[in-house]
Amino acid sequence: MIEKVLIANRGEIALRIHRACHEMGIKTVAVHSTADEKAMHVRLADESVCIGPPASVDSYLNIPAIMSAAEITGADAIHPGYGFLSENAKFAEIVEKYGIKFIGPTADHINLMGDKISAKEAVKNAGIPVVPGSEGEINTYEDAAPIAADMGYPVIVKAAAGGGGRGMKIVQSADELEVAVTSCQREAEAAFGDGTVYLEKFLTTPRHIEIQILADTHGNVVHLGERDCSLQRRHQKVLEESPSPALNSKQRDEIGEICRKAVETLGYRGAGTIEFLYENGEFYFIEMNTRLQVEHPVTEMITGIDLVKEQIRVADGLELKHKQDDVKFSGHAIECRINAEDPFTFMPSPGQVKDYHTPGGLDVRVDSGLYARYHIPPHYDSMIAKLIVHGKTRNECLMRLRRSLEEYVIDGIKTTIPLHQKLIREDDFINGDYNIHWLEKYLDSLTETS
Ligand code: ADP
Repeated sequence: MIEKVLIANRGEIALRIHRACHEMGIKTVAVHSTADEKAMHVRLADESVCIGPPASVDSYLNIPAIMSAAEITGADAIHPGYGFLSENAKFAEIVEKYGIKFIGPTADHINLMGDKISAKEAVKNAGIPVVPGSEGEINTYEDAAPIAADMGYPVIVKAAAGGGGRGMKIVQSADELEVAVTSCQREAEAAFGDGTVYLEKFLTTPRHIEIQILADTHGNVVHLGERDCSLQRRHQKVLEESPSPALNSKQRDEIGEICRKAVETLGYRGAGTIEFLYENGEFYFIEMNTRLQVEHPVTEMITGIDLVKEQIRVADGLELKHKQDDVKFSGHAIECRINAEDPFTFMPSPGQVKDYHTPGGLDVRVDSGLYARYHIPPHYDSMIAKLIVHGKTRNECLMRLRRSLEEYVIDGIKTTIPLHQKLIREDDFINGDYNIHWLEKYLDSLTETS
């Protein structure tokens, strides 16, 4: 039985994992950089170990330091959260070599899905529809040109090792293709140490819809419905909701079942997300994330299932608590990602929080490590909080979100709360009528009129 979990992460997700552990009677070990000594995840954990200086490469990505922390504290499992080492197959392998449980999938599955080309091939063979594109890697412009001409422009050149919205070049016409291929290869090599690229049809007005999966080591797999993450800026999600305003329950069941079966075929374990672009009633796979997602709370709010607890149970060799028939979807949930940034220029705004007051009331959840007088360090991701609300209907959820955003006080720094307040009042958003390009167009229209 898992008795002590080392949380190899920081911020709100470290806290989120700590909460699940304590509710299960499991002790927690926080690891932290010198910049995070006063962080909430460190204050709440049962034990904490400083693993290095502020730069992530020297601390949160420092595998030897994290393994030493696990050893000296006697942790019997490690939860990697999201980002940092969560999709690092080498890390998963090392953890298990030490005889410590990795709360996530096997290193082999992380590897398979970490390369977008092998992922696409694997899920296609398991029955999942994919975006039309090159069969695997393209090496040269000469390889790419006939494939692109065949599919028709626009196309997108993507890095096999890409992630976090980086490593993608949209190509509008044939004369831009050569530069796009070579620059994408060069940038991918520099950013990910792997210059492999491939080609996909660029879908012009899709939504981003993803399916949440849970699988145990006894052959049980369930899907927990979808999340619509179409509101993006620079390929990064800003607000997520479930259910998607674009799907009906028949479509949900169909795509959910396709994913459930595919995950069964792949023999995957743990939590995973299968991401699709959705256009004209069709789903096209883009990637699978082999970890907990930032936006997992919207799924928790409509299913009542604690994803982190299920991850821990699976790592402990237990069966999932729910069969597919037990999974019931109830109401509507929306998450706003709140960043320490100027709400309209997106300039980072780290610094000291002065007054701090969180919204509350029925069906309101705040996942954040913030507190009054906390100093937000400049070294990490700018997301400082997630506000998640639930309602019986989408309309009730929207009204609750409005009033919750009004109540939320984070003084002393700039945050993206004003952006959320504005965009959820837009007719297109209220009508659920948006795709992955909507937010950027909307932001452009704001700068044009100001
Ligand atoms: P990452 O791993 O960096 O998150 P993804 O492959 O998940 O990359 O793509 C991120 C986003 O990029 C998608 O949500 C979508 O907005 C855009 N995108 C990716 N592939 C395509 C495509 N073929 N057509 C249109 N947009 C795409």
